[in-house]
Amino acid sequence: MSPLEDIVARLRDALIVLDAKRHITGWYGAAPRMLGWSEDEVLGKPVDDLLQPRDANGNPTCIGPADPDLVLGITTGTPEQEFLVETNGRPELWLGACCSYERDASGSIHRITVVARDITRRKRIDMAKSEVISAVAHELRSPLTSVKGFTSTLLHRWDRFDDETKKHLLVTIESDADRVTRLIGELLDVSRIEAGRLELRRYPIDITEIAQKVTGRLAPTAANHELSMAFPPDFPAVFGDPDKLEQVLTNLVENATKHTEAGQVHVTGVVEDSKVRISVADEGEGIPKEHRLAVFGKFFRRNSGRVGSPSGTGLGLFISKGLVEAHGGRIWVEAGDTGGAVFTFTLPVALVDDLEIGAAPDPQAEPDKAGGAKA
Ligand code: ADP
Repeated sequence: MSPLEDIVARLRDALIVLDAKRHITGWYGAAPRMLGWSEDEVLGKPVDDLLQPRDANGNPTCIGPADPDLVLGITTGTPEQEFLVETNGRPELWLGACCSYERDASGSIHRITVVARDITRRKRIDMAKSEVISAVAHELRSPLTSVKGFTSTLLHRWDRFDDETKKHLLVTIESDADRVTRLIGELLDVSRIEAGRLELRRYPIDITEIAQKVTGRLAPTAANHELSMAFPPDFPAVFGDPDKLEQVLTNLVENATKHTEAGQVHVTGVVEDSKVRISVADEGEGIPKEHRLAVFGKFFRRNSGRVGSPSGTGLGLFISKGLVEAHGGRIWVEAGDTGGAVFTFTLPVALVDDLEIGAAPDPQAEPDKAGGAKA
């Protein structure tokens, strides 16, 4: 192998050469590795029959110019085009391909060189972003439609409604406006988590107090559930941001009451070396194994099939995971002994150094940037 052949064989892009009829005459660089066929298997085959390229809408298309004779005599190539292609063995491969043409004296194309790059990852990120945008638009539209509808109704028929009906409509408007505000708050949290700009004000805190506060606050709204907690005596202080940890616990306890029909919701704490483990267990239908990672993704929602099953935004657990990880902890879900869901997260115990910082937060203090956190 010559040095040039060696260099070409190591390319990360596929180099495919076609004749004027678009039959493959060269299969170099990463082509065999990326597409799964050896040179011997593809030489002489029409490239579009082999790769069956499809555009972003799933429509069949072709790589480079379909009819080289129709391409202007002065054109020397195509800018990058994106294709979803068939391969020998990969379930999904997106290619970003640029073609360059070589012409004979009459201007007809007699050779096409295709340089193709694997852009699957970039395409997946692009698609995920579009899905997020459409999910956000959908989440914002339904409460705003209701705010607009009820406000117009009140404005136009004010005199026809009695006070009780007016109050009912205003309560609905207020709750929908709260939903929009909450969603915007959650989206801001998501963007801070993703940009690594989450700011924590950490100091040694008593997590049992926070658990007490959360269960006490949510108990009156959870009519079918019994909320309880158990922490060993002398539970150590953890080094954390109390507001953010209250947000995590609120989300877990709220989920336990929201996504289960009835039963006990039990918050427990366990000490484990330099960590504590906090669990929220319920007696609902639990979360199937195949969804136990996915529930922590953005906009993941699973319809339990339960009548009146609540529709959330599917951002709560994503944010909880971001907040716990910013504290240097981990969060996961497993099945409880009776089949319900048990969400558990870990937090670092406050070290002697942290305790010396003092228990009171300094309002002037610079918040920790998540990730560079102590402990
Ligand atoms: P949401 O705001 O929709 O509750 P989350 O991110 O908090 O969003 O939860 C995502 C999904 O995980 C929920 O739609 C639900 O299907 C599932 N889930 C969360 N907690 C529980 C639970 N305790 N029991 C059963 N399913 C749960």
